[in-house]
Amino acid sequence: MRTLALAVSAQYRVALDHGVVLQDHTVPKSMQDAMSLLGRLALEEGREDRFASVHDVLHACTVPLREWDLDAFKGNFTYANLQLVDPDLLVPTEECGALMVEGGRSHDDVIERQLYARLQDALKNTGRQRDRTYRVVREFLARHSLTTRAGLRGHFDGEGVDDAVTDLVLGHLFIPVPEAWTLRGQPHRCVHCGTLTRPHPDRDRFPGGRCPLQACREGEDFQAQAEPFGGTGAIVAANTVLRYWVNPAIDELRIFDAAVEAGVPAELYPHSDKCDVSLGGNTGVDVKNYRDAHALARKMSADPGGLKEYRVPVLAVPDARAAQPGYLSALKRGLKRGPGARLRVMTVREVKRDIRELAHA
Ligand SMILES: [Zn+2]
Repeated sequence: MRTLALAVSAQYRVALDHGVVLQDHTVPKSMQDAMSLLGRLALEEGREDRFASVHDVLHACTVPLREWDLDAFKGNFTYANLQLVDPDLLVPTEECGALMVEGGRSHDDVIERQLYARLQDALKNTGRQRDRTYRVVREFLARHSLTTRAGLRGHFDGEGVDDAVTDLVLGHLFIPVPEAWTLRGQPHRCVHCGTLTRPHPDRDRFPGGRCPLQACREGEDFQAQAEPFGGTGAIVAANTVLRYWVNPAIDELRIFDAAVEAGVPAELYPHSDKCDVSLGGNTGVDVKNYRDAHALARKMSADPGGLKEYRVPVLAVPDARAAQPGYLSALKRGLKRGPGARLRVMTVREVKRDIRELAHA
């Protein structure tokens, strides 16, 4: 699994550099290793080797391992639920990054981490405004991942955001809406989360395209509705930003907005991301949306991050994850020892239900 995670990540980097994935000398060594290990596994099981093409391996990575045609990945296999590539956004998942680190790569090699470092770098000259600016940027991304250049600039200017930060966000975190993601030239926005929908082959069900964010589609009130998005100079958050920041923010905002509505003190991304949402002074909440409970437990045991500084550190998992059979028990079992043992595991629904208690803990 570690070799495969390294392979996916290395191949993603090649794709970014070359703009395309080719079965040639650009296939990274880790991908060649992963392909031969998978091929051997298939042959040992008396199956056809369906892993001889890098495209087939990457395509397989968009579904959980238990759905691969390999007995070794089914049943009680530890990583049976692991999904290494986001099927809509086609970027490596957070779980993939976590496994890479377990495989000996540095945190700095993880794309999610590089995104964070890039923003921190742009913020380094913002002095006392740093934490506030960080929050303005992240909350804007969370709520307006489809916007216009003028809309973004107007909002950031109004909030007093440094020009260097605005330029970074416009230049690196957003892209102009590609023609291929419009419907006859018209961008459409998801009415639930506000992001750009993508045209979907099932036109009857998704006439305005489909929201690419899994956390949005898994919401209980999701009805797949979309509306045309007007304005010239439409821009959309890059796929990595959508996966690592906007998708998790859907549940973070569910919690934060519930706190505001309940009138309890809450802050988004306090102290430049010590946690996702702080409630009162003592409770820190991080939302993690890993399909694989085992990978999440290992990551949080190895490094609970800024969460460990809170008296009540809450690891919140989306309700859809908690609904996976055995998910919560596997997560809790995995967190029994080490720094992860202090974490309080809750579902997003439970955090919202207990929001007053948590804010006054
Ligand atoms: Zn949506």
